[in-house]
Amino acid sequence: MKTTAPAIETDKNLPAHDEEFLAKLIEEPKVTAVLAGPRGTYWSPLIMAEQEENAEIKTEIGDDDLFVTVSGKLAVQCLRAGKGAWLEGPASEATMFLPAPEVMDALGLPASGLSRYSETGAQQDDLDRGMLNRALALYAWQENAKYCERCGGALELVLLGWAKTCPQCDRIVYPRTDPAMIVGVHDLEGRLLLANNANWEPTRYSLLAGYTEAGETVETTVWREIGEEVGIEPTTLATLQYLGSQVWPLPRSLMLGYRLKLELSAQEADQIIKVDQKELRDARFFTRQEYLDAVKSGEVTTPSQVSFAYNYITSWLSDEDLYLPWEEED
Ligand SMILES: [Zn+2]
Repeated sequence: MKTTAPAIETDKNLPAHDEEFLAKLIEEPKVTAVLAGPRGTYWSPLIMAEQEENAEIKTEIGDDDLFVTVSGKLAVQCLRAGKGAWLEGPASEATMFLPAPEVMDALGLPASGLSRYSETGAQQDDLDRGMLNRALALYAWQENAKYCERCGGALELVLLGWAKTCPQCDRIVYPRTDPAMIVGVHDLEGRLLLANNANWEPTRYSLLAGYTEAGETVETTVWREIGEEVGIEPTTLATLQYLGSQVWPLPRSLMLGYRLKLELSAQEADQIIKVDQKELRDARFFTRQEYLDAVKSGEVTTPSQVSFAYNYITSWLSDEDLYLPWEEED
């Protein structure tokens, strides 16, 4: 039986690149670029500037805290080689994502200029972080999506870095995002459930989280993960509230944040949880004071500052009203 590809994935008129744009871009002496690298790394002049020996490089490439400038020729070279993407603006003000290893090599920059997103991403303002998220997500996608998942053909980058096509079956592939949920679970006394994953160092405690599986709603994921990891069933009286989302481009997640308020006293909550010893080393409810004491003593370390979990825990610690007026939200 002959199968036909869905119309949405097939468009034989899809241009390889905007040639008019590339012709203008190649003439530009300076193009603004975010340099993204493997495993969530990016070039950060700000970090480099802190190292005295590299102050010269910083002056050479600009004094912004995230962007660098490269020649239009190099930018077009990367796009033609199937790496990099235009992010925004006309050619004269183009902001690009470019692959850090290739560009740093071409410019003679040291690899030590790469910073790790999970450790330093918090330093950017919202606009810069948005650009960085896109650059890292596109880098990971361009590196990982090399072959057509339908026929195995080698994919080719098109649309200035935002899509790939399969020359064998005309399939179009766009960057994908994986939904995942993260949830703060509370009892009636406002305590917060934190878990230590068996694969983490023993002091790292965070909120429960997990990827959405095929065919699941995110709410189903929340209850499935809570059931699997700490044995709390959806039959338990509770209020589930969606809070917001966070891009986590390592390599391509979108974290959807929730808060779950259990209608259980502290004593009932402690009795109901059954920690899955395969996935977790430990999980328990903390009062604010218990958490602060545990951090102070070194028994518990805080999550990365750029994470949803860090912001959630910080809000929980600093603003009691945010989490305690259960009765007002009925
Ligand atoms: Zn194909």
